[in-house]
Amino acid sequence: MEKNIAVIKGDGIGPEIVTEAMKVLDKVAEKFGHKFNYEQLLMGGCSIDANGVPLTDETIERCKAADAVLMGSIGGNTTTSPWYKLPANLRPEAGLLKLRKSLGLFANLRPCVLYKQLSEACPLKKEIAEKGFDMLIMRELTGGLYFGERKTEEVDGVMTAVDTLSYNENEIRRIAIKAFDVAMQRRKKVTSVDKANVLDSSRLWRKVVEEVAKDYPEVTLEHMLVDNSAMQLVKDPAQFDVMVTENMFGDILSDEASMITGSIGMLASASMNETSFGLYEPSGGSAPDIAGQNKANPIATILSAAMMLRYSFKMDKEADAVENAVNQALENGFRTGDIMSEGMTLVSCSGMGDKIAELI
Ligand code: NAD
Repeated sequence: MEKNIAVIKGDGIGPEIVTEAMKVLDKVAEKFGHKFNYEQLLMGGCSIDANGVPLTDETIERCKAADAVLMGSIGGNTTTSPWYKLPANLRPEAGLLKLRKSLGLFANLRPCVLYKQLSEACPLKKEIAEKGFDMLIMRELTGGLYFGERKTEEVDGVMTAVDTLSYNENEIRRIAIKAFDVAMQRRKKVTSVDKANVLDSSRLWRKVVEEVAKDYPEVTLEHMLVDNSAMQLVKDPAQFDVMVTENMFGDILSDEASMITGSIGMLASASMNETSFGLYEPSGGSAPDIAGQNKANPIATILSAAMMLRYSFKMDKEADAVENAVNQALENGFRTGDIMSEGMTLVSCSGMGDKIAELI
């Protein structure tokens, strides 16, 4: 198969970690007989330096024309970098927000996996950590409280603020379909998280999710209230496969789930639209403190590339090969500085990329 990938290396450690993901993708192409064409594009601080804006219309069009976008990270040191002296709409992050919006990316997928080789980094009790977990949080990204009408005004002499949590059935249906589609490629269980005992928007959410579930008889659906979900994540995370939820609940729960994996350098993510198109990027930022030192952990970006293979290109075998290679590299004792522990072998960013590529 031939695929066109728009590549945004970005700022800070971005170029280093994306180069390693491309190294691994090239090995996949060689091994499985595919051709990946890369088009490198600028976004973030590097685009401000080159073009005066964090994202050009040309870059948006090039991304739209590609089969998927692979991204590193953008931004610099928010205290010292001149990019942060610019007005908010010209700063690096404005580019990313505009790109997500222009591409209609409404579903954010965040796998949270506890590798048994890294279970010591998990802050949960030993007996919970030892069981491991492998879940995916799917967060609705373009609706709900963060996009509803808001106002602050004086009512009867008292300052009053209002935010509106609104969802229509179409917005719920498309994210539910995405969640069930992804569950079909995983362990076939969906936990839909809401607050249906209190909120109207959650009651509609639950109704629409149940309608969608009828088209996926192989998938087990359960509903869970958001407060219980927050508890269950630390009590028994192994019970979850795909957790789907609205924007704000997802924002909070995905950070909680990330935290219990113990390392930011391991967390992949994807944002998708209704089609198989997606933008794939690590969850971490541009880590200016270690940029240019060949020290960053490229695994989150490599795992994001594996998600691209699985969800945008429907290359399950190839994605499995990448994930297994990551597992094997860890099993063989290779560690970048952020996940280093006694008795393991310290490798650089490019060293980790080499080890994983060799294991494909
Ligand atoms: P950060 O995630 O860049 O760094 C936090 C800490 O984690 C640092 O100590 C860093 O060294 C470490 N870290 C992050 N990724 C790592 C990796 N792959 N390997 C090893 N260590 C890693 O967060 P920050 O310092 O708050 O933000 C730095 C810049 O990144 C800011 O400009 C911020 O706006 C931007 N940012 C961008 C994105 C994105 O591109 N999507 C996301 C978050 C932050």
